[in-house]
Amino acid sequence: MGAIPAGFESEAGMLLIGGRRADALIAEAGDTPLFVYDLAMVAERIRRFRVAFPGVSLHYAIKANSFAPLLSAIAHQVDGLDVASAGEMRMALAAGMDPGDISFAGPGKRDEELRAAIDAGVTINLESEGEADRALALGRARGVRPRLAVRVNPDFEIRGSGMRMGGGARPFGIDAERVPALVRRLVESGADYRGFHIFAGSQALDAAALIEAQAATVALAARLSDAAEVAPPLVNLGGGFGIAYFHGEAPLDVELVGRALHETLAARPAVLGNAGFAIELGRWLVGEAGVYLTRVVDRKTSFGKTFLITDGGMHHQLAASGNFGQVVRRNFPVAIASRFGAAGEEEVSIVGCLCTPLDRLADDVMTPRAEVGDVVAVFMAGAYGLSASPQAFLGHPPACEMVVAAS
Ligand SMILES: *Cc1c(COP(=O)(O)O)cnc(C)c1O
Repeated sequence: MGAIPAGFESEAGMLLIGGRRADALIAEAGDTPLFVYDLAMVAERIRRFRVAFPGVSLHYAIKANSFAPLLSAIAHQVDGLDVASAGEMRMALAAGMDPGDISFAGPGKRDEELRAAIDAGVTINLESEGEADRALALGRARGVRPRLAVRVNPDFEIRGSGMRMGGGARPFGIDAERVPALVRRLVESGADYRGFHIFAGSQALDAAALIEAQAATVALAARLSDAAEVAPPLVNLGGGFGIAYFHGEAPLDVELVGRALHETLAARPAVLGNAGFAIELGRWLVGEAGVYLTRVVDRKTSFGKTFLITDGGMHHQLAASGNFGQVVRRNFPVAIASRFGAAGEEEVSIVGCLCTPLDRLADDVMTPRAEVGDVVAVFMAGAYGLSASPQAFLGHPPACEMVVAAS
C-alpha cells in the first residue's frame, strides 16, 4: 500500500489527527464512519503554495471537497473558488467568497444556472459557443454585462496525468482554433471578458510534465490572445498537482514547478504583460488532510484469507475502493487507529459493508491484529471522498464529517 502522509502521530498507540485522538474524535462525532479533516494540514499546503508561486493566484476547485466548515476555512485563505454547478456556486457564496472571485466551469450548464451566475456576478467559464450565445442572451435580457471567460480545450495534455481532460475531442472547453473568433465576439457583444481557463489534466506527480504543460499553456494563451487581438485579464493555468496515493509513487516537487513557472512568466509574450495568472487545485490542497475512520464489525476467514469487514466502504470512499478512475486497483494507505505505528502481524483484506465485490478498502495488507470494534483509518481521504461517492447505494447511513482546527 501507499505511504501514510507525513504529519500523523500517535499517543499511547492511538492515531492523532490534528493533535486529537481518533477515539475521542469518534466519540465527539457520535459514531463511525467518520471523515476527519485537519485544517492545519490544509493551511500548511496553502502556505507552501504561496512560497513556491509568489504572485500567482491560488484557486480551490471545490468539487474535491465541499464540506461547509472546510470550505469556509479555505475560502478565507485562497484567491478564488472554482465551482462546476449552481449548487457548488451557492456553497462558495455561503462560504463567504466574493462573487467576483468565483468562477463557474463545467459542461451542460442549464439556463437557470447561467442566470444565477450572471445575477450573482460570478465568472462563467464558457464550455461551448452555444453556451456563449445563451449567456450573452441572458445577460442582455437582464440588462447586465455577464462576466465571461473562455475555457480552452488545449491541443496538448499533461504527460502521464491521471485523468485526461484536454487534447483531442473532449466535452470540456472550446477547441483552441475556434477560440480567437469567440473572444472577439464576446468583446464586441459588450460582455465583461475575463480571460482564459485552460486545464490540461489531473493527478500529475511528474514535475517535468507539469512544467512543460504550464509553459505550453502560457504559450497557447498568448497565441490565442494575439490572434484575437485582445489581452486577457486573467489566465487560469489549470492545476493538476497530484498526491502520492500508492506504493512506489514519489510526491510532486512543487517548488521546482514554481521556479520554472516563475521563469516562464518572466519571459511571457507582451500580450500577456498585464494578465494575472491563477492555478486551481483540488486534491493537492485537501487530499492528505483527510482520514476516513471506519469500525471493524466482523472478522472472518474464507479459504484461509482473513477479512476485516467494516461499517464503511465505497459508498463513502469510492476512490479507496479503486472504482474512481483507477485502471488496476491499488491500496490506499491504511492503519489500525488504536495500534498506530505498530508492526504488521497478519495479512488481511479490509472490505466495506456493501453487498458487492467492488467494496474493497485494502487487499492483502499487513496490519497489527485487529478485533471487532477496532477502527481502521484510511488515509488520503480528504479529496473525492464523500462528495464523489455513491452514498445512496445500498441504503447504509451517511458518514459523519468534521474538521479539526490547529492544535
Ligand atoms: C476537477 C478539476 C480540478 C481539480 O482537480 P484536482 O485533481 O483535484 O486538483 C481543477 N480544475 C478543473 C477544471 C477540474 O475539473
